[in-house]
Amino acid sequence: MATETVSVSTRMYIDGKWVDALDGGTLKIENPANESIIAEVAYGGRADAERAIEAAARAFPAWRSVSAYERAKVLKKTADLMRDRADRIARTLTLEQGKPLGEARAEVMHAADTFEWFAEEGKRTYGRMIPPANMAKRHFAIKHPVGVVATITPWNFPAALPSRKIAPALAVGCTVVARPADQTPLTLLEMFECLIEAGAPAGVANLVMGQAVPIADAFFANPAVRKISFTGSTAVGKELIKRSADQVKRLSLELGGHAPLIVFPDADCEQVAQAAVIGKFRNNGQVCIAPSRFYVHDKIAGNFTEAVVEATKALKVGDGLEPGVQVGPMFEARALAKTSALVDDARSKGAKVLTGGGRSNRFAQGYWFEPTVIREVSSSMRIMTEEPFAPVMPLLDFGKIDEVIAAANNTPYGLAAYVFTNDISVAIRMAEGLEAGVIGINDPVPATPQCPFGGMKESGMGRELGVEGLEAYLETKYVSLGIR
Ligand code: NAP
Repeated sequence: MATETVSVSTRMYIDGKWVDALDGGTLKIENPANESIIAEVAYGGRADAERAIEAAARAFPAWRSVSAYERAKVLKKTADLMRDRADRIARTLTLEQGKPLGEARAEVMHAADTFEWFAEEGKRTYGRMIPPANMAKRHFAIKHPVGVVATITPWNFPAALPSRKIAPALAVGCTVVARPADQTPLTLLEMFECLIEAGAPAGVANLVMGQAVPIADAFFANPAVRKISFTGSTAVGKELIKRSADQVKRLSLELGGHAPLIVFPDADCEQVAQAAVIGKFRNNGQVCIAPSRFYVHDKIAGNFTEAVVEATKALKVGDGLEPGVQVGPMFEARALAKTSALVDDARSKGAKVLTGGGRSNRFAQGYWFEPTVIREVSSSMRIMTEEPFAPVMPLLDFGKIDEVIAAANNTPYGLAAYVFTNDISVAIRMAEGLEAGVIGINDPVPATPQCPFGGMKESGMGRELGVEGLEAYLETKYVSLGIR
């Protein structure tokens, strides 16, 4: 087994300096493909977060006063550096997270594009003049950066998800304390190296690593933190909503999903089957917007099933650093155990496994699950109600459009939905009827920096990306001016 390592900084970045945890703690970072240790990073807690918050609060007045054009230069340069180093950052990402190198590189480019897009959009935080009813007054609505922003992000997209928070926050003049997930800090460390080299002043962007709850305690306790932007599970999101009450802390929440993918009989069955397999097994299904319930019209269900099973069997599974690999390991032992439990539950309630169905024994070490397709799925199965976050494709049939809209919406989640049809009336009825914040019609990969991304119902509050993603870091102030 080859042990790979990374050469990025492994310390926290606080107030313009690379620092160790105050208590000297460290955490080992593992490669999920073979369980080898690739790095050991500084790992602290509440006291480190407090230092970072203080630095961000000190830096806020000056950063806010810099022109949007000057801030944009730093963000644009960050994007350029990330692109220049895309191969290196992608390798780090694959090593700590497991996804194939091609996917990792695409994610790094998406994160760079996000920095560039917000660099430009930050120049357009327009207010407005509002016509007065009383001509002795003038009314204005102006924009104000929210203040110090704390970000908490998960392991599944360690480049893309922080970029959707850090770039817009910095663009409008906020300062940031970022906390990556325990097991994937290295990609964010790589991104911070770019930010620093691009000229982010001391205290403007800080990175802390350490236990989630004590760090969140610091974020909630300190009134200098005006906003917490969180991406993660719905369960933790709900906890944060409760905790935000004390100081009416602003929250943006990007939470879990259970996306339906719906195939109408006029769609090109072969082509959609390929798209469905790519969409499902990207990052091993560990994607918040991954399709996780596949509703196929009964006229084409047979052909579609054959095509997806064949395409799933053809996927190349292996270490993400190997050329041509399409599916890497799952992220951790816990994810593997949960996936096995979901498939076992479905099987015990009558589901038929068409391919895969269990842990892979092709590899001596690492967290491997065979890409799986199941049929004869019913609503009593856990896989239909819990967010699976797993490489499992459950197939269901439907007959009528109203029936499939009702089935698709029958979940507390409302993050993403996918529809495949060439019938414009069906496309519009689905876009209007589905309860999801992101809808891909004949598009299995809809996320892009300039368009709003986020969930309805229990999938979140607020939106990232697009103009909405910039607005999330701004307060609106109304100014009424009496004149003579
Ligand atoms: P998670 O357990 O909620 O963790 C997410 C992040 O929050 C991690 O950094 C985690 O730290 C931290 N955390 C855990 N408990 C916390 C607490 N009590 N207070 C504050 N922070 C806490 O989620 P996960 O299972 O790792 O990530 C997958 C979830 O994220 C899925 O539900 C997925 O759908 C969702 N997600 C949503 C989007 C979106 O845009 N809507 C995108 C990607 C993922 P540790 O690293 O220490 O665990």
